[in-house]
Amino acid sequence: MSYEIALIPGDGIGNTVVDASLPLLDAVGDREGITLEYTEFDWGSERYLEQGSMMPDDGVDRLRPHDAILLGAVGHPDIPDHVTLRGLMLPIRKRLNQQVCKRPSILYEGVESPLRGYEGGDIDFVVFRENTEGEYADVGGREHRGFDHELAIQSAVFTREGTETVVRAAFEAARERDGKLTNVTKSNAQAYGMVLWDEIVAELSEEYPDVEVERLLVDAAAMDFIRRPEAFDVVVASNLFGDILTDVGAIIAGSMGLAPSANLCVDGDAPSMFEPVHGSAPDIAGQGIANPLATVLSGAMLFDELGEPAAAGRLRRVVREQLADPNAPRTPDLGGDSGTEAVVADLLDRLED
Ligand code: ATP
Ligand code: MG
Repeated sequence: MSYEIALIPGDGIGNTVVDASLPLLDAVGDREGITLEYTEFDWGSERYLEQGSMMPDDGVDRLRPHDAILLGAVGHPDIPDHVTLRGLMLPIRKRLNQQVCKRPSILYEGVESPLRGYEGGDIDFVVFRENTEGEYADVGGREHRGFDHELAIQSAVFTREGTETVVRAAFEAARERDGKLTNVTKSNAQAYGMVLWDEIVAELSEEYPDVEVERLLVDAAAMDFIRRPEAFDVVVASNLFGDILTDVGAIIAGSMGLAPSANLCVDGDAPSMFEPVHGSAPDIAGQGIANPLATVLSGAMLFDELGEPAAAGRLRRVVREQLADPNAPRTPDLGGDSGTEAVVADLLDRLED
């Protein structure tokens, strides 16, 4: 099979990790009879600084015909984060209907967690984050700064359709996994949107009697991600809460440099987008030491979505093997002193075996 993949390497270490991952995706593809055809889009902060926009006006439409999108990261120290987010990521997620963001958190064998007493295999959960509305929504003009900019109004929008989509995806995943879903909200303080959200979870749970539902307020969930991460199987949360919790999820599983994510268009009308959870990390950009594994694992999620589980499994297997091998090269975020290229070269060797 042949697939059309749109590449947006983006900024900072985004470029490094996407470039580094392609030979691996190709090598796995070769072994599974898969050809990936890439089209690269040089969108991001450089373009913004030169031309005033992160991507062209028809950017989203140019992505649409592809089978999947692989994104590195966007962000630049001289550009406010809300400009980069609203100039590229949010329109792509929204207009390509990528309503569900899936972020697994796995502590691999051989990786050290900052949590005392936890070792490989002890943490294995997946967070489903609502991806196109909630606290990140734009409500055409109702948000504003007033009173000489001393007051700001920001709304959150929860629709039945958007909430149901992510909650259903989470229930389906829980059914496939260990049968437990943790619903994270803050319904005591956010008494409209999050109450609707809780009602939808309760309604859908009738369709999934085999899934046990636990309800947590987001503050308690943040605490329990640290205190008892082994208790989680599938977690579902709003756009903002999901974002915050998945950074916690990434770091307890060893490093931001290991955390993959998928922005899924669940109705299949548009391509899904795969990207590491981490950002452009200007502090280490250009040094050749970015950990490529978050992007490689995002590539495995990409293969899964293309309906190529054998390729996905092969990629995950070599990553697992490498992490479990105390003599394998590691980037500094995992306590090693190797660079991005050495990690990729070692993975390519392991694919040969
Ligand atoms: P964002 O604004 O999108 O959150 P960021 O540039 O702040 O992005 P984060 O992803 O939040 O970066 O990462 C925080 C820090 O973690 C980085 O500054 C970097 O030191 C480290 N880090 C992130 N990704 C990697 C990686 N792939 N390899 C090594 N270190 C990483
Ligand atoms: Mg960050």
